[in-house]
Amino acid sequence: MSAPVVRAAGYIRVSTAEQALRGLSLEAQEAEIRRWAAEHHVRLENIYVDKGITARKQLHRRAAFMQMMQAVDAGQIDLILVMRLDRWFRNVYDYHKMMNEHLIPHGVNWCAVKEDYDTTTTNGRLMINLRLSIAEQECDTDADRIRDVQQNMVAKGRWPFGAAPLGYRIEEKRLVKDPQTQPQVEFFFRHMLANGSLRGALFAMNDRFGTSYEYRRAQDLSRKSVYYGVYGENQSFCPAYITLEEHQRIRSLAEKNVRVWSSPTAWPHLFSGLLICDDCHRRLNAQTIRRPSGVYTTYRCSHSTDNHGCANNRSISEKVIEEYLLNYVREDLAQYIVQMEVSRKKAAALPDNTAKIRAKQERVKTLFINNFIDLEEYKRRIQELEGQIIRRPPSEKTKDVSKLKQLLEDGALKMYPTLTREEKRAFWRGFLKELHIYRGTIQGPPIFL
Ligand SMILES: [Zn+2]
Repeated sequence: MSAPVVRAAGYIRVSTAEQALRGLSLEAQEAEIRRWAAEHHVRLENIYVDKGITARKQLHRRAAFMQMMQAVDAGQIDLILVMRLDRWFRNVYDYHKMMNEHLIPHGVNWCAVKEDYDTTTTNGRLMINLRLSIAEQECDTDADRIRDVQQNMVAKGRWPFGAAPLGYRIEEKRLVKDPQTQPQVEFFFRHMLANGSLRGALFAMNDRFGTSYEYRRAQDLSRKSVYYGVYGENQSFCPAYITLEEHQRIRSLAEKNVRVWSSPTAWPHLFSGLLICDDCHRRLNAQTIRRPSGVYTTYRCSHSTDNHGCANNRSISEKVIEEYLLNYVREDLAQYIVQMEVSRKKAAALPDNTAKIRAKQERVKTLFINNFIDLEEYKRRIQELEGQIIRRPPSEKTKDVSKLKQLLEDGALKMYPTLTREEKRAFWRGFLKELHIYRGTIQGPPIFL
């Protein structure tokens, strides 16, 4: 005995704006419905399509939906398949009206193939109501409608947003080149295409024009389609700065760069976190620039570019810092270690009697509180004891230098050139605490851990 055939109908609704979205297009919805029907061995009798219809449109104005209800009433359908609940309803009232007037009287079930609702349990029905209430709210603030309006504007060559992208200004709602920023944008693209570095082009542009655009601006320039004249479906939306081919070249160059920067293991910054701005005392930021001749890392105080009063506005190359530090370790570290050891021995020889004196002072206080001595006497004795304190020098001058000594003894320095960048990074971090930098010069000596 074979199971009775389930006759299914698919329902698809797609608004104009949604048609362009991945996963919501008519084709995508149809594919999902067909896939589900095949997997569950139901016979798909018909697919009803309401195209260009937003969820706001009332049910009786959706032609395909009304046809499907007629089929339900005629007893031709057992099951309705939609991709998601919001494809056919975004409103609690409409949903129940349809259930009560059409589906329940004719014993028709429905199923959202990409969602999991159970119409047979109280919990399942509660979920549906909840989902519909949410969909209703979403519908009111309506993304659909906004997208439709935007798409309409774009088709007419109008910029649908407030601010114009860099290099443009808005004239009668259209984007035209802005004479003020046009040279900057042209310079940026020329530089980018010649050198292949987004960051390099950004710095060069900022240097040349005295601007302080952030990296995000460079990313916008490299990504936005308006720069080759296209927006949305509109192929001649605005005057272009570059061709589509140039845009594609920039994209592929930028992606190569991103790979270098986004992966700290691919190109570790040797000194990031260790360099201190000698003006504003913030840590310097590392930048890596890729040129045909190689990859260059520099450090600078990001606070100097955002007009926050830091005068440390020059960057310093990683090479310079590395050379300086290697030199320091070779030439001066031994001397430093000797000094440390001497002051450490001196300090160790000094008895630190702070605790003892404090205890004596406490006893004086007790005498005073119990009226054995007067205030005058109390003050005199406290002061006298304070003068007898012998303190060890602060720990800054008595650092443990065993790690630094190892550096000299193990021939670690000879090993250095053979290390990977990751290992070099770890090497410096092993004993260096910070190094102060001002306007591209090192304010030595280094401070060790
Ligand atoms: Zn600074």
